[in-house]
Amino acid sequence: MAGISKILENNKQWVATKNAEDPQFFKNLANGQKPKYLFIGCSDSRVPASGITGTGPGEMFVHRNIANLVVHSDMNLLSVLQYAVEVLGVQDILVVGHYGCGGVAAAAANKQYGLIDNWLVNIRDVIRLHEAEYLRIKDDGQRARRLVELNVMEQVRNLAKTNIIQNAMRGDNPPRLHGLVYDIADGVLKDLDVHGDDMMADMEHIYATEAVTKAPDKDASSYEGPKHDPAKELVAEKKGAVEKK
Ligand SMILES: [Zn+2]
Repeated sequence: MAGISKILENNKQWVATKNAEDPQFFKNLANGQKPKYLFIGCSDSRVPASGITGTGPGEMFVHRNIANLVVHSDMNLLSVLQYAVEVLGVQDILVVGHYGCGGVAAAAANKQYGLIDNWLVNIRDVIRLHEAEYLRIKDDGQRARRLVELNVMEQVRNLAKTNIIQNAMRGDNPPRLHGLVYDIADGVLKDLDVHGDDMMADMEHIYATEAVTKAPDKDASSYEGPKHDPAKELVAEKKGAVEKK
């Protein structure tokens, strides 16, 4: 058996196993989700979110992309983040990188790969930010592993820069941010012990923003609104046409 037939057969067996373990399993899941975790990981097939964390259906909200990046123009990531934080109320956000990441390795090589170069440039930015430390590492393997770690740390920092996280941090139940690295070679998940609030401390003078709760004071701005209002002009024009009749 191959291809999609194998997938469908596996699914049948999984449904049967789950129902045998707990006849209410699917009924409970259908009632809604309240996951405690948001997992932001790499698309690499060797890093399955639930498998390496021992979590089952309903426990973890997941976003994956090449090299587990948090990019501020990525509507997909931002939508997942906002929904996870503001609607689901996740308590822990995990950025999970992995040693042997093809995306990170490609970014470290000075070759073109096509469209994906524009995605990988975010990792090249990580190299530039940590260039002194990165270049000091002489061993190729060690340097590649360190770049995976630096990339995870920078993505946690990117999370902390978003207004979604900044607003959530001021709320009653601020989520905790974590940077983790998974080792494909032994299956171990390592906590890099980086946290959003620590990271924010040294960059908040640049990135901290506050939500504007009222319209800005008119005197404080030289902007006086649009010079003309097409909607009002249209009404006036129609009125004029009626009066002329
Ligand atoms: Zn990867």
